[in-house]
Amino acid sequence: MSLKIIIVGAGLGGLAAAISIKLEKPEHDVLVIESAPELAEVGAGLQVTPNATRLLIRWGLGNILKDLSSSPEEFTIHRYSDGKILGKREGYGKEMVEKYKSPFWDMHRADLQLALYDRATDLGVKFRFGALVTNIDARIPSATLANGENIHGDLIVGADGLWSKCRESLWGKAHSPIPTGDLAYRVILQVQDIEDDALRHFFETPRVALWAGPDCHVICYPVKANKLLNLVLLVPDNLPEGVSRVPGDIGEMLQIFQDWDPRLRDLLSMVQKVDKWKLMHMEELERWSNSEATVVFLGDACHPMLPYLAQGAGSSLEDGAALGSLLSRATSREDLFKTLQIYENLRKSRSSSLQKGSMRQRQYNHLPDGSEQQHRDRLMNEQMAEPLPGYPFYWLDPAQQSFVYGYDVYEEIKRHDRMGTGLL
Ligand SMILES: Cc1cc2nc3c(=O)[nH]c(=O)nc-3n(C[C@H](O)[C@H](O)[C@H](O)COP(=O)(O)OP(=O)(O)OC[C@H]3O[C@@H](n4cnc5c(N)ncnc54)[C@H](O)[C@@H]3O)c2cc1C
Repeated sequence: MSLKIIIVGAGLGGLAAAISIKLEKPEHDVLVIESAPELAEVGAGLQVTPNATRLLIRWGLGNILKDLSSSPEEFTIHRYSDGKILGKREGYGKEMVEKYKSPFWDMHRADLQLALYDRATDLGVKFRFGALVTNIDARIPSATLANGENIHGDLIVGADGLWSKCRESLWGKAHSPIPTGDLAYRVILQVQDIEDDALRHFFETPRVALWAGPDCHVICYPVKANKLLNLVLLVPDNLPEGVSRVPGDIGEMLQIFQDWDPRLRDLLSMVQKVDKWKLMHMEELERWSNSEATVVFLGDACHPMLPYLAQGAGSSLEDGAALGSLLSRATSREDLFKTLQIYENLRKSRSSSLQKGSMRQRQYNHLPDGSEQQHRDRLMNEQMAEPLPGYPFYWLDPAQQSFVYGYDVYEEIKRHDRMGTGLL
């Protein structure tokens, strides 16, 4: 028997779930409801790490996305004030493929979202755009749209992001996102517009460059096959409560970075337009589904995190993959309770570790000048050739890398099956 599954939200997590469900069990009827009238060029760059690219490749998107992405040849970490290299890894992208059998891609969020959408459409997923869900009734279950229409199904997947209406309908405002204390300026520049020859050449080689400074850091990488440069500038949050995204003030941004590496200031002097995003997270939810097993959550709707490990999108894709694979075992509503429990057991602890890891990384990224910072920099200098487990920046730490990038959600499901852990 097949199920009717309603996914609220055509973000990366919702689309991943739609694809995974259809690939694993084409008989399930999948409808995605999205409030935006169409999928437009929203967002900016994303780092998509091997744990996530292996899913995209498995879903048949490898060739399309390879041509739209850049794989960093070098990863460098710089001191904020003079750009001195604190840590580096040459051949980073190649090393990732060798170690984790899947690439590390920098790409534009819109490229990824559109590729996922096309694949979902090919697989027979249905879409309703311009349809804002205002409420869900978990007893039926059904989703109510702004025009009053009710859409019924067997299961509602709340993939509606940070400010999830599905979560609020089910559990009220008790589980609302909370500010992290940081905000992000997001900037996109044309690489060819960089006037300084040395700086342009620096960025003509695909790379990730991170500048670490007191209370702030900057991460920079190419998107759109190296034509555009994506910069994310992380600084203390000064947005009023309740304001989550506004056009940023360029003067204010320049002032924050006025004493930073002149190369970074050169880049910032090119900025014509900048967005300012309040960064939120949330206490770990007790459950990701309701006891009637009619509503389940994934992605930012249930585990928003600081982007300091670049795992928000990656873990949403992992959630979607896991949910699709497990739902292929469900043939009736009666199977859903067990299926959703398994999903939670499999996914919740990992995303909680990623949430905590991203908070931990913030400390190392934002150390003020002083003894701790000197200790950090000395350690990195000693490990310049070969970072060891416990290295202060997760990107180069072999232990953290292996935990995050080495994870294969499909293998995890198989492993638990083989071990008969009772989890699955
Ligand atoms: C500055 C910054 C940098 C980041 N960098 C990275 C990175 O490098 N790598 C990485 O992996 N992650 C990164 N992330 C995190 C990543 O963007 C998110 O974790 C990810 O997009 C979450 O996907 P999602 O599908 O759960 O939610 P979303 O992408 O938010 O999608 C939710 C969808 O639901 C729709 N929706 C919302 N409400 C309703 C409603 N009521 N009715 C119908 N539709 C609705 C929305 O329109 C949207 O399309 C970054 C985030 C930020 C802020």
